[in-house]
Amino acid sequence: PRVPLTHFLEQSAAMYPDSNAIYFMGKSITYRELLQLSYQFANALIKRGVKKGDRVAIMLPNTPQAVISYYGALFAGAIVVMTNPLYTERELIHQMNDSGAETIITLDLLYKRVTQVRASTSLQRIIITSIGDFLPLLKKWLYPFVQKKQGQNPQVTYSADIEPFLSVLKESATKPVEVPVDPTKDIALLQYTGGTTGVAKGVMLTHANLIANAVQCQAVLYKLKKGKERILCVLPLFHVYGMTTVMNKGICIAAEIILVPKFDVKQIFEMIDKRKPTLFPGAPTMYIGLINHPDLKKHDLSSIDACVSGSAPLPIEVKLKFEELTGGKLVEGYGMTEASPVTHSNPIWEKGITGSIGMPWPDTDCRIVDPATGEEMPQGEVGELAVKGPQVMLGYWNRPEDTAAVLRDGWFLTGDMGYMDENGYFYIVDRKKDMIIAGGFNIYPREVEEVLFEHPAIQEAAVIGVPDPYRGETVKAYVVFKDGQLVSEEDLESHCRQRLAAYKIPRQYEIRTDLPKTMVGKVLRRQLQEEDKKKRE
Ligand code: ATP
Ligand code: MG
Repeated sequence: PRVPLTHFLEQSAAMYPDSNAIYFMGKSITYRELLQLSYQFANALIKRGVKKGDRVAIMLPNTPQAVISYYGALFAGAIVVMTNPLYTERELIHQMNDSGAETIITLDLLYKRVTQVRASTSLQRIIITSIGDFLPLLKKWLYPFVQKKQGQNPQVTYSADIEPFLSVLKESATKPVEVPVDPTKDIALLQYTGGTTGVAKGVMLTHANLIANAVQCQAVLYKLKKGKERILCVLPLFHVYGMTTVMNKGICIAAEIILVPKFDVKQIFEMIDKRKPTLFPGAPTMYIGLINHPDLKKHDLSSIDACVSGSAPLPIEVKLKFEELTGGKLVEGYGMTEASPVTHSNPIWEKGITGSIGMPWPDTDCRIVDPATGEEMPQGEVGELAVKGPQVMLGYWNRPEDTAAVLRDGWFLTGDMGYMDENGYFYIVDRKKDMIIAGGFNIYPREVEEVLFEHPAIQEAAVIGVPDPYRGETVKAYVVFKDGQLVSEEDLESHCRQRLAAYKIPRQYEIRTDLPKTMVGKVLRRQLQEEDKKKRE
């Protein structure tokens, strides 16, 4: 590509100026308005001293402000750092120091946490916004409620270096601005990995990386109509999955992006009723929440052409049940932050294969290698997935050793174990790091979880390896039952015994009401492992 990512927005605004770019709690913003607001924000950042390559952190839930800040920062030539609003102080300090961000855009409700970490980071400028900034009515009603609930005034006293989003916008010029960048060399985004297996690493993604993945996404969904699609945006935009498949792809095709700030089944139903979305990318836990909701039958999901599930394995049971109950399509894809993020998916308009992540996307190559030697494995055998394509990152920010460990001649080693069948479909077995070795046998937690999922009383399950004096490790299962159901360990045991080899059967069970998850709904096996360790100490 010769152009920066921001051209998506300029082109859609030129071609479909009056189409809705964003729908947010009753408020619509057109493409013309979104472009103008983004220019304004870019001018404001430049006026405040933000220069090309400076890191600008955005710590917001799905709101128009998040989209404006993102495109505004890119127009200003800055590197965006997306920050999870639920980050604790410790995580925030890590990310701010690691990235060296000097500017942050955040919510008034999070202001306290940000100022508390300020002294231990390089943050100099704070821009504060509130959920209701673009919703005058809500603002009027919400503030007194929040004030009462929090016992404090969310309206911050602003000083020169703490400014309200709206006045920053208002005071700044609407003239077009675009700091020149080299799309293949200059970083557009420092995106932190999920932190599922360890400390979150900053992934350097260029403009070209992000453009490539949005265009690839569009190629795979080729039947979509430019200027006519409506995408339900429940996936957080601060995660690269939603950023690419909802925001960037959506802006590329001039779609309406229906922002839902928080995963809440009732709100999702309401948006489906009101806006009739045509696409709903999500994570497995979202679809699980939907199919288990008593109100599902009361809503018509037929406007949705396709749901694409990614970020974690989609349990087969969930896919089948979802399609049966809604009559819609739910297809599985696969990716990772390091690949902007998508590398594989099932065909959207054809049947595909349940349980498979599908095939590599256009312009993407994938092979299965022996993790020990790096040699390519014979077809059908399990090894580590390696991927190559225009969406693969430059490397990890300030971590040359970590980069060298995973990037070889343009091939990215994913850390995921899998295989390819004779038709070219790929399957993920599990993460390399989560593999359990019990008495010399390799056990992939996911296989055991799939079996637990088949049990009619089980809503969620997670499996980890725990130390065992004889076998080295043994299998422990965490299960969450569906509302009002309870099943004995003996029953679970016999359910597993019928379906799994003896060495894979969980030896320990823990019944829970929920499981620890990352913001995109991935079960944190690492946290379960830590909890288990603490219990044993
Ligand atoms: P970290 O790298 O910090 O431990 P993370 O790998 O969870 O965190 P992400 O980049 O958000 O961070 O997630 C990518 C990973 O998610 C993949 O490497 C893979 O393990 C998992 N994943 C994504 N899609 C699927 C899928 N369809 N099936 C199985 N696993 C998936
Ligand atoms: Mg990872």
